[in-house]
Amino acid sequence: MAECLFCRVVAGTLPATVVHQTDRVVAFRDIAPQAPTHVLVVPRDHHPDAAAMVAADPELAGVVLAEAARVAEQEGIDRTGYRIVLNTGPGAGQTVFHVHAHVLGGRPLGWPPG
Ligand code: 5GP
Ligand code: ZN
Repeated sequence: MAECLFCRVVAGTLPATVVHQTDRVVAFRDIAPQAPTHVLVVPRDHHPDAAAMVAADPELAGVVLAEAARVAEQEGIDRTGYRIVLNTGPGAGQTVFHVHAHVLGGRPLGWPPG
């Protein structure tokens, strides 16, 4: 998946501000943050979206959520509240087709999202 943007981040060939990593995920700051904290949690394995990931490797879906919660703690937004977003499909705003969980917080977040 040499042409996949987030496979390149995982491989270290595209620079990113990495805030946390494990053997299964890499977490890095979004290039266009929508909140004071905006981190993307990306599995090292390529799956195009959340539905494909949970179908192929349900355990990995749990790992991504657990690591998103860990990033929120590390960023100090766990007490004030945060949002984990998995845009799935172009109609939902997905633009990078390597599954990623957005971790957003550090300001009041409205509901429903725009
Ligand atoms: P999506 O719209 O697919 O849910 O989210 C893709 C996210 O990736 C967007 O929030 C966008 O700002 C971010 N993004 C796109 N290209 C890059 C990049 O090269 N580096 C980083 N760190 N984030 C990126
Ligand atoms: Zn990929």
